Amino acid sequence: MKNRTPPRQGSGHQHKKEFGQNFLNNGRVIDRIVAAIRPQAEDHMVEIGPGEAALTEPLLSVVAHLDILEIDQDLIGPLKARFALCPAFHLHHADALSFDYAQLLKSPEASLRVVGNLPYNISSPLLFHLLKYANNLIDMHFMLQKEVVERICAAPGSKTFGRLSVMMQYYCQTEYLFEVGPENFTPPPKVDSAIVRLLPYRQKPLLAHDEALFENFVRQCFALKRKTLRNNLKGWLNAEQIEACGIDPSARAETLPVAAFVQLCNYYQQAASQPTPPDLV
Ligand code: SAM
Repeated sequence: MKNRTPPRQGSGHQHKKEFGQNFLNNGRVIDRIVAAIRPQAEDHMVEIGPGEAALTEPLLSVVAHLDILEIDQDLIGPLKARFALCPAFHLHHADALSFDYAQLLKSPEASLRVVGNLPYNISSPLLFHLLKYANNLIDMHFMLQKEVVERICAAPGSKTFGRLSVMMQYYCQTEYLFEVGPENFTPPPKVDSAIVRLLPYRQKPLLAHDEALFENFVRQCFALKRKTLRNNLKGWLNAEQIEACGIDPSARAETLPVAAFVQLCNYYQQAASQPTPPDLV
């Protein structure tokens, strides 16, 4: 891929902290991110938070259709003016957290690729929102706070393994790509950043029978940090039931593989759906 011109500087835009506006300022880093995304001419891509178009511009030079979601009214006019003549450019003045991504699909079977240098303050709720559309997503590439990328990709038993790791790894193959230091943004954030690749499974290797219940169940398993499963699952499963799944009730959630959460949740669902024996009513 040819080297791109560096992003525009000094546009006069007042960066808004509430919208997590740390704009990429280094052409080499932008090239590296775009190379990792590997945009293709036939892609229907969605970019969340274009800002001043650091990623938007190189993506638009390749893909057939780019839907862009930006919440900041002050950025809408300049983006529209800059890309008015570009047929692939489709701007939505919208909140990515509540946006209905299904409306972008040209057919129920169509697939989207989603990218973005995300505002860090909304990254977890946004990822959970996007998981609802996982069946129609080919992949997602995001810049996030490095610590969040580490949590998404963490292995069980590691310090950073938690609810976000379980949920993201249930739906997606996750891959930590590379780190991006604060000096590559204007203004520089106080934290390191990293790029993650998420590939939603076409066929999930593990299946929770009720995925809405699974989300609540996993939350419950991690409800109190450093507590045992037996403690966190009080009122859901007792020690004998946890043992019946072949799992140690004195284990802590952060040590268990994703398969254990699926197994426990499916067991809970089955147990909860059994009619209570008449002598216990
Ligand atoms: N893509 C640009 C770049 O890399 O330089 C800007 C990235 S900046 C970290 C995040 C962008 O997301 C900003 O343009 C901000 O206004 C936008 N944004 C923040 N919250 C948003 C939301 N809820 N929905 C859509 N866009 C949002």
